Amino acid sequence: MKTALVVAAHPDDEVLGCGATIARLSHEGWEVHVLIVAEGSTSRKEKRDVVSSSEEISGLAKCAEDANKILGVTSVSLLSLPDNRMDSMDLLDIVKIVEGYIVKYQPALIFTHHAGDVNIDHKVLHDAVIAACRPQPGHVVKELLFFEVPSSTEWRPASSGMYFTPDYFYDVSEFISKKLQALSVYGSEMREFPHPRSIDAVNYLACWRGASVGCQAAEAFMLGRCII
Ligand SMILES: [Zn+2]
Repeated sequence: MKTALVVAAHPDDEVLGCGATIARLSHEGWEVHVLIVAEGSTSRKEKRDVVSSSEEISGLAKCAEDANKILGVTSVSLLSLPDNRMDSMDLLDIVKIVEGYIVKYQPALIFTHHAGDVNIDHKVLHDAVIAACRPQPGHVVKELLFFEVPSSTEWRPASSGMYFTPDYFYDVSEFISKKLQALSVYGSEMREFPHPRSIDAVNYLACWRGASVGCQAAEAFMLGRCII
């Protein structure tokens, strides 16, 4: 049994970043676990107030369960780190959380955020995953891939930092419909086209990523590390 772990900051990032690949791997018999670390809601208010946002938080959690069921994942774990305020935490605490899930699920493959995203939680989590995947002798993680999240990754201007230049692609021609179906469950997080986080834009991106490597639809990644 092959095992993958998707480490995402917010509910919907896992689908935006690699939802069709999750569906493909699940279909191919992989065990796919999804870890979402932040609650994804409280940053919309002036101050963090978990109590007054509890309805939104539980609504998002339900969306995450339903969306990931469509993709066929083995498990979804939802934590409640502070939305868009993960830079207020000690990085070590986040590293230890990720390490705990690596020990629990023993994934050979990990998907997570790209380091250059505009969103602060994406960047912090990227660093935490890199630290948790230090390739010490006997470490279980053999492959590390960074995904793109529309409305965060491409909003980093190329001249302002690390830009997303994909070098690793999954042909998801048969699975893009599952991704779009899963995204439609996250209705509150989606926007109208031409916002990049719209169903149409996500579909167009998959078509373009596919066209750039000769298939109908693809999800694109940057390779962090591969040990064979
Ligand atoms: Zn996010």
